[in-house]
Amino acid sequence: MNETGHDKSGSIPVRYDKRFGRQHMLRNVVLAIPPVIIFAVLWQRGEETDSTTWLLSGFFVLWIAGWILADVFYFKRYRCPACGATIRQPTIVSRKPGDPIRYYCRKCEVEWDTRLRESGEI
Ligand SMILES: [Zn+2]
Repeated sequence: MNETGHDKSGSIPVRYDKRFGRQHMLRNVVLAIPPVIIFAVLWQRGEETDSTTWLLSGFFVLWIAGWILADVFYFKRYRCPACGATIRQPTIVSRKPGDPIRYYCRKCEVEWDTRLRESGEI
């Protein structure tokens, strides 16, 4: 199978971009560390409720909100691995769970498959 060639239907060639998914995973792991620590601290404190509890809870909520925003931003700024062009929208904009997240570069005339699938969680 030739991944870069046109198929018989004459549709756009699809190539795989493993980097995007790897970066996405790595970023999520790093971003998950602070909220996990906060959660552990809050858990350990148990019933105790004081200003520190509220401060930590507030930080936790802000962090999660920032994380979601960063995620949205990340998917709106895809960079073509071949020419470096920024692609602001995936091919399938309103994805159903399980739909592939792909980006089409007009310059290269290639559709990049990030190997990521819509999770349907957010
Ligand atoms: Zn390109």
